[in-house]
Amino acid sequence: MLLTLATTHAPATQLGFLLHKHPERFQSFELTFGKAHVFYTEANSERCEATLLLEIDPVRLVRGTERSERSDGPLEQYVNDRPYVASSFLSVAIAQVFGTALSGQSKGHQELADSAIPLEARLFALPCRGGEAFLRRLFEPLGYELSVTRHPLDERFPEWGESSYYDVKLRFRGRLRDLLTHLYVLVPVLDDEKHYYVGQAEVEKLLRVGEGWLASHPERESIAQRYLKHSVRLTRAALSRLVVDEAEDPDEAAEVKEHEEEVLEERLSLADERMGTVVATLKSEGARRVLDLGCGGGRLLARLLDDTSFEEIVGVDASCRALEVAERRLHLDRLPERKKQRIRLLQGALTYRDARLAGFDAAAVVEVIEHLDLPRLSSFARVLFECARPRSVVMTTPNVEYNVRFEKLPAGRLRHRDHRFEWTRAEFEAWCVDAARRFGYAVRFAPIGPLDSEVGAPTQMAVFTRVAA
Ligand code: SAH
Repeated sequence: MLLTLATTHAPATQLGFLLHKHPERFQSFELTFGKAHVFYTEANSERCEATLLLEIDPVRLVRGTERSERSDGPLEQYVNDRPYVASSFLSVAIAQVFGTALSGQSKGHQELADSAIPLEARLFALPCRGGEAFLRRLFEPLGYELSVTRHPLDERFPEWGESSYYDVKLRFRGRLRDLLTHLYVLVPVLDDEKHYYVGQAEVEKLLRVGEGWLASHPERESIAQRYLKHSVRLTRAALSRLVVDEAEDPDEAAEVKEHEEEVLEERLSLADERMGTVVATLKSEGARRVLDLGCGGGRLLARLLDDTSFEEIVGVDASCRALEVAERRLHLDRLPERKKQRIRLLQGALTYRDARLAGFDAAAVVEVIEHLDLPRLSSFARVLFECARPRSVVMTTPNVEYNVRFEKLPAGRLRHRDHRFEWTRAEFEAWCVDAARRFGYAVRFAPIGPLDSEVGAPTQMAVFTRVAA
């Protein structure tokens, strides 16, 4: 496994100070999984290039792990690509061999360490799961120029086709520390293989090393997901902390929502069935003035507007972008006056008291609660049942038990990346029964979508009716 790091920033041999490795020496380091060697292939004032050579010892790799952590067959433990490709072992080596440079420190040359300089890195045999397109999506937003060569599976048998290994040259102008932190995170992300147990400590590491670039990276979700080995819990923990310093953008969640979930649920055209059931339920409750809380792109609003038994319809959402989509879907700008008077869109957050929501016959809350952080659900319940206090509430949410029936959904994943949770039928029912009791409502439940004898239906609905004044 080879990584080269070069600069043309004159006098280029100063790279030795930044890396804390003398250009005239050949140095070797013992690591738990093998050896690392550092040497220079070029060192003059115009250009200086350091090479990190990793010799991974497959036998040591196997010895280092507990039997219970290994799921592969016995041969696979010894015969695999790990010794030859750039993987998380490279990250470990970078941290151990170039630790000071990775942290951005340089004794006596701090100013240089803090300066943007022209840098070039080459990685040989970089496994890219997701292909060249994904590779580019990872590095280009960070300002890299890439040259990429793909390896055939076996050059003697071209008919076997291409492999997923690439030689990659990365050109970048920035601090050496930036380059190293990008490699540290993105090489294992591209490799997307397990090599160590991932726990909370990895979240901390990712946040630390990703500081200053990860939060605004367009691929931050796939980066976090892959880096944290697809653990839903850890990814969410990382992402929720990443966005703290960005103003929370409700638009972003709303924008992707319809599309992603629709693809998954398309076979069932579940969304359609859901809207149909909600409209029918609102009608059977005798509702004429209705709220659509978390109306998103206005799918339900459009149906309500087409049915003249609904006299006043108000859509509420936190996301301006979602409201714009709704506005377009409803053609608000060119509706006949009488129709237009029946509908209004309001921007607002559902976890804050809002006097505009009071006095309606019914509220629809369709596929919204799972977008709220669990600790905020109780404020939402108060806004809904105590402050808005409509006669009826029709609420839907995914039934997580059904997820095993979605072939395209990997096990353990939620249906949409903005979902903060998805509940079993028992969990949803328990929450609803408790809310109904506290706020003076009766509640009943119904499934929406094809009913499976074992796991229930894909969507679960609760219908609340007010009993106390
Ligand atoms: N009811 C729509 C949209 C569901 S997506 C449908 O079924 O198609 C969830 C919507 O809730 C998104 O549009 C999102 O912007 C909105 N939302 C999430 N949290 C919110 C909050 N705290 N206040 C208001 N709207 C919120």
